[in-house]
Amino acid sequence: MRLILLGPPGAGKGTQAQRLVDAFKIVQLSTGDMLREAAKAGTPTGLKAHEVMARGELVPDDMVVAIISDRIDQPDCANGFILDGFPRTVAQAEALRRLLADRGLALDGVIKFKVDEQVLLQRVESRVKEMSARGEPLRADDNPDTLSKRLAAYRTVTRPLVDYYSHEGLLLTVDGMRSIDEVTAAIMAALASYKADHKPQARSP
Ligand code: AMP
Repeated sequence: MRLILLGPPGAGKGTQAQRLVDAFKIVQLSTGDMLREAAKAGTPTGLKAHEVMARGELVPDDMVVAIISDRIDQPDCANGFILDGFPRTVAQAEALRRLLADRGLALDGVIKFKVDEQVLLQRVESRVKEMSARGEPLRADDNPDTLSKRLAAYRTVTRPLVDYYSHEGLLLTVDGMRSIDEVTAAIMAALASYKADHKPQARSP
């Protein structure tokens, strides 16, 4: 099973990815997590990415494509993977298409989270307030200003992927504003009906 989770920052992609990992015994590949780990480890990629991420901008396509290309060749990806936060541009989607084709692999679906951006902003604002009140550390890009920028980046460069994957017949849309359990159930139902519709045809004798 190879899936993409598509939706703006804060839509709940990471939470749902964790549930799909457990359900399908596949791995979650979050480019955001990988870039944050690289930044923490102080690798050249991580150092370059850190400033860009803190500003709420996207890191260059070739950087994330190289990360994903290396990662999907690891043995733990053999059973499948969930891409969370990648691709984020049409150029990344094209690169992914080539990467998969070179390996004789295909995607099983692209799950699009439909959300209300105003509600996402309010959620971040209250989470930041609560965490600050408890003295907990915040992610450098976890604040309303940066989230606004990340949402703007989503609208301009990532949202065109909705049409891109719809054209490919891979898009499955779920209402991301429902409860966590309801969103998981909607994803499972969408995948099951997609599978039923795309079952290989029995050959006529
Ligand atoms: P995320 O945790 O997915 O919200 O990603 C955090 C930040 O990492 C983003 O705001 C970008 O700066 C960077 N990033 C993560 N994935 C990508 C990607 N596919 N393309 C470009 N930048 C990315």
